[in-house]
Amino acid sequence: MTETVNRDGWMLCIASDITHLRADERDLRQDRDLALRASQTDELTGISSRRYVMNKLEEMIMRNLPDQPREGCLCIFDIDFFKGINDLYGHQTGDDVLLDFARRVQPIVRRHDCFGRVGGEEFMLLLPDTSAEEGEGIVRRIMEIVRASRPLSGAPLFRYTCSAGLATMAVGDSAKVLYARADAALYSAKQSGRDRIMIGAR
Ligand code: GH3
Ligand code: MG
Ligand code: MG
Repeated sequence: MTETVNRDGWMLCIASDITHLRADERDLRQDRDLALRASQTDELTGISSRRYVMNKLEEMIMRNLPDQPREGCLCIFDIDFFKGINDLYGHQTGDDVLLDFARRVQPIVRRHDCFGRVGGEEFMLLLPDTSAEEGEGIVRRIMEIVRASRPLSGAPLFRYTCSAGLATMAVGDSAKVLYARADAALYSAKQSGRDRIMIGAR
């Protein structure tokens, strides 16, 4: 709005209607929010995406300073014999099992933890400010809940399990190194028979 007062006392007001600009701005903001949320969410399960949990992992690592060390655990879960579930029951049922896993774990996740899907049937749980003992307890509880789950109404006896690799953060660890330690522990859990947790050696 511009106002000009003429010598004769008349005031000239010029107003521009910018309603459409505001609407455009609002649409843009909404689109940006939707895109951001989509990049942070795993499409199938609705839990955090790989990108989101990896960023959170970097944050946990960055807060672990040499003069102010913090505790923290990283756990990678992988569903056992998942290919067999797909082969036996079909891909859609495989998806239902992935969804079941996400739903079972979600209630165990505390406010400052972060749980996401990092690959096909692989999930990551970040436990900041958590000791190895506490982390192991949480993971064992999750595995117990998964063992007790019977997710297929059409196959009421169907059950599934997962394996877990847990690593605790040390000062100087990069995200890559900590992840690799959890991954090696997961590999060892698979090698020694599955449906178990292994703790990564430093
Ligand atoms: P292991 O116990 O050693 O982990 O064996 P596995 O069969 O679980 O592991 P493998 O890596 O051999 O197979 C994983 C399968 O997961 C293969 C792939 O087709 C399937 N998969 C990956 N993403 C999805 C998905 O989004 N939905 C479904 N239904 N299957 C998926
Ligand atoms: Mg796998
Ligand atoms: Mg697997």
